[in-house]
Amino acid sequence: MFELSPRHRKVREAARQVAAQVDAFAAEADESTEVHAGTLAALRASGLARHVVPAAYGGESEMLDPLTITVVREALMYSSAHLDSLFAMQGIGSYPLAVGGGDALRRSWLPRVAALEAIAGLALTEPDVGSDLRAVATTVESVAGGVRVHGRKSFITNGGAADFYCVLGREGGDGYSMVLVPADAPGLTVTPGSGLIAPHILGELDFDGVVVPEENRLGVPREAFSLMLRTLAVFRVSVAGAAVGLAQAALDEALRHVTTREQFGRPLIHLGAVAQNVALSWTEVEAARALAYRAAALAGADPLARLDMSSIAKVAATEAAGRVVDRSLQVMGRFGLVRGAKIERLYRNARPLRVYEGATEVLLDSLARRLAKGVS
Ligand SMILES: Cc1cc2nc3c(=O)[nH]c(=O)nc-3n(C[C@H](O)[C@H](O)[C@H](O)COP(=O)(O)OP(=O)(O)OC[C@H]3O[C@@H](n4cnc5c(N)ncnc54)[C@H](O)[C@@H]3O)c2cc1C
Repeated sequence: MFELSPRHRKVREAARQVAAQVDAFAAEADESTEVHAGTLAALRASGLARHVVPAAYGGESEMLDPLTITVVREALMYSSAHLDSLFAMQGIGSYPLAVGGGDALRRSWLPRVAALEAIAGLALTEPDVGSDLRAVATTVESVAGGVRVHGRKSFITNGGAADFYCVLGREGGDGYSMVLVPADAPGLTVTPGSGLIAPHILGELDFDGVVVPEENRLGVPREAFSLMLRTLAVFRVSVAGAAVGLAQAALDEALRHVTTREQFGRPLIHLGAVAQNVALSWTEVEAARALAYRAAALAGADPLARLDMSSIAKVAATEAAGRVVDRSLQVMGRFGLVRGAKIERLYRNARPLRVYEGATEVLLDSLARRLAKGVS
């Protein structure tokens, strides 16, 4: 059994406390496509966002710790997907800045990210580009007076709510660059994104020849694809943590129901198939948790070197969450189908986890390529 250190248990406890506060209005928060004020206030007061910013810029530890982020996301997602997203995006949206930004740029933004006074966004996806990020069409080029960003970004979390976006674009034909674009940069227009089955803060970003100072470049010009990959590598395993939190919430919801509702003269949990159902879910939750923690601990030293384990944990935990929430709904019978029931919200919230930050099939595809090369 993988044991968390006292430090990790302490941060998990802090996250559980915020989650418990938000639980009272989690249904409302999870319907929101704008920042939910009560959720933001609770997260801000907790100071948890400091865990996704390096200590030199107002954060908690010298380097980000994937295991800390994973256990925090597990605790937050147990209560609310909106809460989990607000936390996670502070890290995902600011990591290219923390690693690839100049000192002045970092000093001007990161302490505010850590304090949740500035909201971060990461803009990779485009209307015609999803999994195949090498095909991005947004352009980046140096011009008189700075660096020019031109193109469209789509399905961007925190779009419209963020104070800045770290944007991936193509430069000079076959190069890739990243640039920090403040939300109020002239030429940037943000419109609301699609309404999802699991509501989410989403925006469509239109960069119409936006020019920002050269100092807003992140990473090495034309060689920033690796900076983007590094960002995804640090945070991929934390999606597994979120999936475990959601699966645990679904199992707990099912248990509440099957231990109190009686049919055929006894609580549902004593009916064979129902007993098997919840026991199998418990097994899957524990397996996913153990794998998520182990992969997150391995990612600590060098996330890119341990990316296979992070991918395995993400696939295993998000697919398990899908099965657990479906099984949990099944044992609740008609009550599981009621709009507004907690299990209905969990059912919807489980679904995007298998698509974003590496769809299951995309990750399996890259794992298979690694196996074919003889890496195990
Ligand atoms: C809630 C939510 C939040 C998001 N937030 C952000 C954000 O903040 N920033 C951002 O840049 N993007 C964001 N996205 C976009 C997200 O990153 C993309 O949805 C994801 O990369 C997949 O791209 P796609 O949806 O275009 O699917 P596609 O790339 O069109 O793929 C569709 C399906 O085809 C299959 N597939 C694709 N490629 C392969 C392959 N190589 N091998 C096998 N099967 C394959 C998979 O099943 C995949 O689900 C968000 C998406 C969601 C749902």
